[in-house]
Amino acid sequence: MDGPAGVGKSTVGHLVGKALGYHFINTGEMYRALTWKALEASVDLNDEKKVLALAKRLRWEFRLTEEGTTLRTYIDGQGVSAQIRDERVSRSSSLVAANPGVRQLLCRLQRRLGNDGGIVMEGRDIATNVFPDANFKIYLDASIEERARRRYRQLKAAGQAANRRKIREAILTRDLNDIKRKINPLSQAPDALVIDSTQLTLRQVSRKILRHIKQHAR
Ligand code: C5P
Repeated sequence: MDGPAGVGKSTVGHLVGKALGYHFINTGEMYRALTWKALEASVDLNDEKKVLALAKRLRWEFRLTEEGTTLRTYIDGQGVSAQIRDERVSRSSSLVAANPGVRQLLCRLQRRLGNDGGIVMEGRDIATNVFPDANFKIYLDASIEERARRRYRQLKAAGQAANRRKIREAILTRDLNDIKRKINPLSQAPDALVIDSTQLTLRQVSRKILRHIKQHAR
């Protein structure tokens, strides 16, 4: 499953994975984890060699949550879920994700996780690059206004400060970086089921996907 920032891929992926009894993995976590670690270590994110060397030094692990449905990223034995949601990490992650060596390394890890099947994986290049032969390919989209509104509500619900205009700008910048990068940019696989979730709840989206899978499963 691929799609732009803030479109609800993780919520939908989790719901679909749970319904199918498959493990869910959010590959954005890996790019975010590396970005966080590089910022912590004051590595210049524009220095591709140094960022790649750091990525190679880290011990990457993926552990199932207690619920047993989601694989979470651990680096050097540490879970990163809390740290990687930081605004600075969000802003910088698309720069790290444009690093060719980093993409190659993380793509290898992602293929290892999904090679035996039974997985719902979400990101930007999953259907186009990581698993071009996936049984099912979904491209999830929604208007920028709706995505900004969802993110705004999320932040408010978490008791955090939120500015709608800034959120909108940050999402647009990240989308643009992901679409225009040279290697594995965000794009729709020609054979993907495209779902526009602007007018749908994320539960409705996951039901739509599950119906599609049921109808087309061989
Ligand atoms: O999905 P999320 O927004 O958490 O991803 C953070 C960043 O990681 C994205 O903006 C994108 O630059 C990068 N990413 C990527 N390829 C993926 C997943 C994420 O380039 N498969």
